[in-house]
Amino acid sequence: MVTIRLTNSKTRKKEVFEPLDPNNVRMYVCGPTVYDRAHLGNARPVVVFDTLFRLLRHVYGTDHVTYVRNFTDVDDKINAKAAATGRAIRDITDETIGWYHADMDALGALRPTHEPRATEFIGAMIAMIEGLVAKGHAYEAAGHVLFRVRSYADYGALSGRSVDDMIAGARVEVAPFKEDPMDFVLWKPSEAGVPGWDSPWGFGRPGWHIECSAMAYELLGESFDIHGGGLDLQFPHHENEIAQSACAHEHGAFARYWLHNEMLQVEGKKMSKSLGNFFTVRDLLDQGIPGEVIRFVLLSTHYRKPMDWTEKKANEAFQIVSYLYEAVGDLTDFDKLDVSPRIIDDLTDDLNTASAMQLLHGMAVNWHILDSAKTPDYAKKIKATANVLGILTGTQSEWLARTRRGVDLSRLSVRMSELRAQAKLSNDYSQVDRMKAALTGAGVEVRMTKEGVNLVPGHRFDPAKLEALL
Ligand code: AMP
Ligand code: ZN
Repeated sequence: MVTIRLTNSKTRKKEVFEPLDPNNVRMYVCGPTVYDRAHLGNARPVVVFDTLFRLLRHVYGTDHVTYVRNFTDVDDKINAKAAATGRAIRDITDETIGWYHADMDALGALRPTHEPRATEFIGAMIAMIEGLVAKGHAYEAAGHVLFRVRSYADYGALSGRSVDDMIAGARVEVAPFKEDPMDFVLWKPSEAGVPGWDSPWGFGRPGWHIECSAMAYELLGESFDIHGGGLDLQFPHHENEIAQSACAHEHGAFARYWLHNEMLQVEGKKMSKSLGNFFTVRDLLDQGIPGEVIRFVLLSTHYRKPMDWTEKKANEAFQIVSYLYEAVGDLTDFDKLDVSPRIIDDLTDDLNTASAMQLLHGMAVNWHILDSAKTPDYAKKIKATANVLGILTGTQSEWLARTRRGVDLSRLSVRMSELRAQAKLSNDYSQVDRMKAALTGAGVEVRMTKEGVNLVPGHRFDPAKLEALL
């Protein structure tokens, strides 16, 4: 059996990974709060842990890995959106989950084995909170139930900080009914018009942290192998998950290996709406950047290092993936034995995807410049190796169909801008109208602004219908 080594945030060491049960390797990753499109930063843990899922399936067998990633569908941000738009909560969360699936599918992320929604596990959360109250780890106060942080001696072990340091450094919510400022909410009352469920503490809803503890317990048991998420979740979210689970299930280990991905930035700056460099995965896909290229860039930096998204990297990755597709064409006949052992060496060394992507890059260059490399065996090797990383999962024909549309559309938008400029002079808009009708008929939304013409392909986009225009 291949040896996998992973850096465990809990011990701050690179450790040999030994699953509790090699026949059922179990992983939990914190998923999104579903009220809006996923931004590019949200895609980083998805792609990182998808790659780990693929590696585990490669090593232990496709049917011997269970991967759980939740949807947080009860949250004050969702309530706020419902109040602002007048829409039903379920409508908003269903729509957002649909977007999430479409966007993450485009990045080549496999669907996890289970994708529980928090609202489907309220009963399990209530049962867990009742157990914590019974054992003295939680208390009821002013309609709330709070976790008594001082009752769990190991609190802070994951982030390596003492409770007192954490109080000093964190923005803890001070409330008059808390015994200690560090205590956190397990259950809170719901006022009218806000989602809620009947509970022993009245009509209310869960705090955020309890959902992951309850769903992990229900779907993976009291001890499982890997828990993942972004580094921003380490404290307080993961610290709180550990405290709840360890106190509710004293004999369980909860998660044995903790993995955290570092944050993503854009062109050297924190991604934020106020800096104007905030974008969603869908924004990039709509600009014609294929999901596979986004994935390639995300994996080119090791998950434990901060990463910088740049347009330059996206262009380079586009070129590499194009070369790789040139090499493999529409090949489907290959198997596990064709996978380069070097890629497995890289991935088993704490998921060194940066080195793995360099290897793929090297293979692309070899194929491109060396006639001696252009053999059917090398093509198989490229395809099988890239597939372990979730790259080259389609065929070259599909790639060309997808990418040609980006090129064609940019050319068409320039043409359309020119026609519009001429029409302004002659005051004859018939040609502009004709072109707009043809584009709309082909499933392309035409957005005209002062700056120019933006063509956005919708899901009904059919490039064949544009041939007459090219
Ligand atoms: P949220 O919906 O905000 O809870 O985030 C979902 C996931 O995205 C969590 O695992 C976060 O840690 C992760 N995440 C959020 N922002 C970033 C970022 N800029 N870079 C990397 N991961 C992020
Ligand atoms: Zn969580």
